[in-house]
Amino acid sequence: MVLDDLGSSLRGTLDTLRGKSRLSEEDVEEIVKEIQRSLLSADVDVSLVMELSDNIKERALEEEPPAGTPARDFVLRIVYEELVDLIGESTDLPLEEQTILLAGLQGSGKTTSAAKMAWWFSTKGLRPAVIQTDTFRPGAYDQAEEMAERAEVDFYGNPDNDDPVEIARNGLEETSDADVHIVDTAGRHALEDDLIDEIEQIEDVVDPDTSLLVLDAAIGQGAKDQAQQFDESIGIDGVVITKLDGTAKGGGALTAVDQTDSSIAFLGTGEEVQDVERFEPDGFISRLLGMGDLGQLAERVERAMQQTGEEEEEWDPEDMLQGQFTLNDMQKQMEAMNNMGPLDQVMDMIPGFGGGIKDQLPDDAMDVTQERMRTFSVIMDSMTDAEKEYPKAIGASQIERIARGSGTSEEEVRELLQQYKMMERTIKQFQGMGSEQEMQRMMK
Ligand code: GDP
Repeated sequence: MVLDDLGSSLRGTLDTLRGKSRLSEEDVEEIVKEIQRSLLSADVDVSLVMELSDNIKERALEEEPPAGTPARDFVLRIVYEELVDLIGESTDLPLEEQTILLAGLQGSGKTTSAAKMAWWFSTKGLRPAVIQTDTFRPGAYDQAEEMAERAEVDFYGNPDNDDPVEIARNGLEETSDADVHIVDTAGRHALEDDLIDEIEQIEDVVDPDTSLLVLDAAIGQGAKDQAQQFDESIGIDGVVITKLDGTAKGGGALTAVDQTDSSIAFLGTGEEVQDVERFEPDGFISRLLGMGDLGQLAERVERAMQQTGEEEEEWDPEDMLQGQFTLNDMQKQMEAMNNMGPLDQVMDMIPGFGGGIKDQLPDDAMDVTQERMRTFSVIMDSMTDAEKEYPKAIGASQIERIARGSGTSEEEVRELLQQYKMMERTIKQFQGMGSEQEMQRMMK
């Protein structure tokens, strides 16, 4: 996750302020050093780091904290506000008819992001179309077509035509029923002149409302030049940061935003079309600082509920809070989680559960891969309702029957029961740790 390090190291430093009501100059120096260290190691441009840390230092020393405000909260608020200021608002993308042009180097994630964004717009009730003009990368057409299919959105491309400008023109005509046109373009390994010429010509024909630069979160200092060149040729309005699910540091993307004087539009967090988030600065930074992000979580939960469909009505998440976690809950929860994204990412969005607390939970509790979920789902279909409601009563003979009925092995059934026990224990820990009120509000 981008600047993850900042979140954890800053939390550590801020924790040393607990109980203090006034900040000493040393306290401020310590915090500012920590922030600089984290930002620099995340590949954020040096001058940007200096600007940010100077602002924080100046404010922390000069501003008078409101009476009764603990020093920790006061600093946290300043850091938060300065980060919001640096990262800025999210790129303006009104929910109406529009054309979006995607630019970026090969492999940055343009094709994937085109389908993800189209999917995102479709969840907002619009009719998107993806137009694939990449005639350079072999396989780009097939990949784009397949992803558009998975996203269930309109698609246009023409593998027999090698003129991207013509494809773009035809694409807009052929998909005229769509509201949102997302035009994917070719990338190269480096910024060659012919790439720039080509994208300028496409831009001329497409006349986009918004041009977005797609950047791999792993990009470091190279982001600055790239951003500048694309900005000069087509004008960049916003940035899509991809592959935030990996170990990338993401600082380069912040540099690009600063360089183009633009903003962040979307974040890519996986290879599936649903692995996308609209960038929300407040929530993003809250998450960064370990303050939780109810807004994003609510959106994901809403989305997951929509996909889980009618069945979800039978499932009362509040039961989980009463300590009656059954296999039925687990099944519903797995479906919802499947739609929301990996459990550990979801956890980051729950106030109080990000960072440190998450790390205290057993690793295995997070380790429910999609493959296992599918097997578990098949197994649960072979259980009786009574067994699902009271899994503790499942003994050896039932395990044998369930394995036979679901075409799985007894070992797999045992694994499921093991996982259930682990989740039950984790839920109990949740109940012990979080504020129940907050949890209930979130669950709703
Ligand atoms: P393009 O050349 O810019 O069109 O890049 P692609 O869309 O083909 O993406 C390059 C590779 O990165 C593909 O293997 C994608 O599956 C992968 N990819 C794209 N976005 C993400 C992401 O957010 N997370 C992960 N893990 N992989 C991604």
